[in-house]
Amino acid sequence: MTKSCVKCGKTFDEKMIDDPAAQKYPSCPDCWKEWTSYAVMVMNEMRLDMSMPEHRKALRKYEKVFFGLEKPEGELQKNPDKKPI
Ligand SMILES: [Zn+2]
Repeated sequence: MTKSCVKCGKTFDEKMIDDPAAQKYPSCPDCWKEWTSYAVMVMNEMRLDMSMPEHRKALRKYEKVFFGLEKPEGELQKNPDKKPI
């Protein structure tokens, strides 16, 4: 079954995904790979400990923002007059 990637819009075959974590929402292998390396960076920078529920929650937030499912926190307050391009 083909799906279109939630991040880049490319279509990909579901069978290409071997990481069950990548199937939470449609993400192509390229974007998922990009996210996993970004996640490592976030974990190092934020000193996240994946054994702690609060830290896992924080990472999930980054994940949603990365895939465009959620707006980064505080963006609206920072740029109240920003017009969509
Ligand atoms: Zn993609």
